[in-house]
Amino acid sequence: METTPDFKVHVVGHNWAIDLFRQQEQVGRVAQSLLLTGPPNIGKSTLGRFWAQYLNCTAEPRPCGYCLSCRKVMSGNHPDIRVFDEDEALKIDQIRELQRELSLSPVEGRYRVALLCNFERATTGAANALLKTLEEPASQVVLILTAVEPGSLLPTIVSRCQMLKLRPLANEAILTALQTQWQTEPAQAELLTQLAAGRLGWAVNALTDQDFLARRSRFLEDMLDLLRMHRAERLDYASDLSRDTAALKEALVLWLIIWRDLLLLMSGGQTKVINLDWQDKLQPIARRSTLAQAKEMVVRLQKAYQNLDRNVNPRLNLEVVLLHLPRYADI
Ligand SMILES: [Zn+2]
Repeated sequence: METTPDFKVHVVGHNWAIDLFRQQEQVGRVAQSLLLTGPPNIGKSTLGRFWAQYLNCTAEPRPCGYCLSCRKVMSGNHPDIRVFDEDEALKIDQIRELQRELSLSPVEGRYRVALLCNFERATTGAANALLKTLEEPASQVVLILTAVEPGSLLPTIVSRCQMLKLRPLANEAILTALQTQWQTEPAQAELLTQLAAGRLGWAVNALTDQDFLARRSRFLEDMLDLLRMHRAERLDYASDLSRDTAALKEALVLWLIIWRDLLLLMSGGQTKVINLDWQDKLQPIARRSTLAQAKEMVVRLQKAYQNLDRNVNPRLNLEVVLLHLPRYADI
């Protein structure tokens, strides 16, 4: 059976925000200046694209995912929809050009929609230039800004927008989405869900990140090495790894999952072990460790991970964890 191509922007979670948008539209009160905030990779810009598609879709139920408008949104060719999602900061010239476009009636759709992602990266000049548009948008214009923290934007920008605070997704929603929408194998979906911490976008990026699985193996091997190492070698390792914040974060989460798995192996439960493919390597550690040791490592790794957001010196933070690892010279 042939399946119909689906040109629909799929949002996972954030149902309350979609409900709110729909209600506003039904009563003819579409918010013209929106600010979507929340942690990176939780779906802010996806929600913005969804709303742009919804507003301009020409069939029911909206967004239909097959009308010409929906197709153009998906291919990035809709003349009334502008998306700025580059890594570079938005500049004043780009805002001025956008303003010229927004002053004209929509070409094909009902609304001209501009999605300005990560607006905290915009230059001050660009932010100031946008203020006027936010204050008096033309009647068929919808501006959608995204940012991690409203505090990183000019207060005058925030006060002119309707702000929606998006939260990380529930693990269950991420697990289901990875398996049904991205056809991820159950074991890998479970691992990525644990690592994603509510950020579906992170998990999806990891799926296509060729290096991710290599890094996962490297940090497992590193944990085995660390268990064999003396104090001085562990301190050297801490000094190296703590220079790269992203790698440090990833290592701490992966190690946390390893020690949780060890706890499960020691208590005889294997159903929830995430690193199923590593059981052979984990068993020798499980045989040597005590439950109390494994529990302590889980707590210490959790704390070290949380400390990363608390201005604790990354190197000292990591040293504390590594010096508390048990030492097994013969694994
Ligand atoms: Zn449509």
